[in-house]
Amino acid sequence: MADKRSFKERQAALHEIADRIRPCTLCPLAAGRTNAVPGAGRADADIMFIGEAPGFYEDQQGLPFVGASGKYLDELLGKIGLTRDDVFITNVVKCRPPGNRDPLPDEIDICVATYLKQQVEIIQPRLIATLGRFSMALFFPKDARITKIHGHPLRANERIYYPLFHPAAVLRNPNLRPAMEADFKRIPELVAEISRSSKSDDSPPPPPPQQLSLF
Ligand code: SF4
Repeated sequence: MADKRSFKERQAALHEIADRIRPCTLCPLAAGRTNAVPGAGRADADIMFIGEAPGFYEDQQGLPFVGASGKYLDELLGKIGLTRDDVFITNVVKCRPPGNRDPLPDEIDICVATYLKQQVEIIQPRLIATLGRFSMALFFPKDARITKIHGHPLRANERIYYPLFHPAAVLRNPNLRPAMEADFKRIPELVAEISRSSKSDDSPPPPPPQQLSLF
């Protein structure tokens, strides 16, 4: 998984992708957006958060997680001693679906294959935290339920895939808050674990599950 690119080279590569995302018209979501939202954060972040799609405020500002969900995400990051400058935050699709409808399978497929896949390859995060079910479905079996597998890390390809609730779901249902916060608190120990194991383990990584073949 090691990437020999320097920090500046990664930054430049991410900027180049963002410059392609902003005018992108590859799928129908282009028609209804105000601004595409490429994502933001450290070019060599250990932790990458992948949400679902931009909402109203994200679409207005062109930045990820800037509404109430974003404030809650900031709060959660603060509880583990991080800010959003320490991580990279993006979404499965980069343009807001009209009326906040769910993104369609074709829209997800084209946006992930064209942009998200490359962002992951450049950043090479040690931990990918999925926020919500659309992001989770990129890496976990299609029949996985977020209520069952949230907080259960999957280790593959020298990386941890970590399914979490979407912050907006937690804001809608405060009963999910203790579970979300407990799951979040485990992130530093999981990153430390995968960092140790990738330094000490010279054996080849196990073959990835089918869903992980995407990345
Ligand atoms: S959602 Fe992705 S593929 Fe569709 S127009 Fe926006 S950037 Fe392009």
